[in-house]
Amino acid sequence: MTGPLDFVPCHSLPDSATEPPVRFVFRDGQNLLVDPTQPDRLLDALDFAEHPAVPLGRLAGRPCVAIAVDADTPPPAGLDFVGLRALHGVMDEHLRSLAGGGFQLLHWRRTHRFCGACGTPTAMKTDERALVCPACGQLAFPRIDSAIIVGICRGDQLLLAHNRRFRGNMHSLIAGFVEVGETLEQTVAREVREEVGIEVDRIRYFGSQTWPYPSTIMLGFVAHYAGGELRPDGEEIVSADWYSRDALPEIPGPGSISRRIIDAFLAGELG
Ligand SMILES: [Zn+2]
Repeated sequence: MTGPLDFVPCHSLPDSATEPPVRFVFRDGQNLLVDPTQPDRLLDALDFAEHPAVPLGRLAGRPCVAIAVDADTPPPAGLDFVGLRALHGVMDEHLRSLAGGGFQLLHWRRTHRFCGACGTPTAMKTDERALVCPACGQLAFPRIDSAIIVGICRGDQLLLAHNRRFRGNMHSLIAGFVEVGETLEQTVAREVREEVGIEVDRIRYFGSQTWPYPSTIMLGFVAHYAGGELRPDGEEIVSADWYSRDALPEIPGPGSISRRIIDAFLAGELG
């Protein structure tokens, strides 16, 4: 499967008995049921009808749902449960994104089973992507956390930092979550100041990536050094330095927006 999918999102689908759906089946959180020999094969005719399903839409004209199964559910013969991250570069990227969206909606449904205002069990709305409380009418929409990630240039060098959570000696860009009341540019400036102690300017948008672990949108930016001495905060950021193209430390593998920004730096596209 290549190119964008023939996919139309919708919030309610016909009874699965009349039109058997394509199913994205998740176990243990992010493990997706796939045919390891054909990762792009659409799975249907699976005996998971009794499990709670979240409608996603129509894929190539067929109803498409996401289903969560219990942690001890064995995979059907010939199929296997594989982590979403491990399917990067293995499964069609558009299909993997659709599955990732399904995972996020399952997570949302599972964590919003009761009304946050009055505690009544919620129900799925059929005319929009929301859960509604039948007692008080309170609506709950899928939550998406916003985070920024920024490539900071100084001359022909890029700032790379080692975060305490990174494996080995991996270095990447500065990132952090948007706080209430901030513009994205303010988030970029604050995160850079907090984590490495410098000021930046000429902040511009680069691109974005959904990050379904569980529900984040990563908003990529490029910025330029505008002053100050590098002072890693010592909590999140253990070390940070300016790197030239020909002397990079270990960097993230392909598939993340951080790597896309670093690759753009290497190609001389960030100036
Ligand atoms: Zn309520």
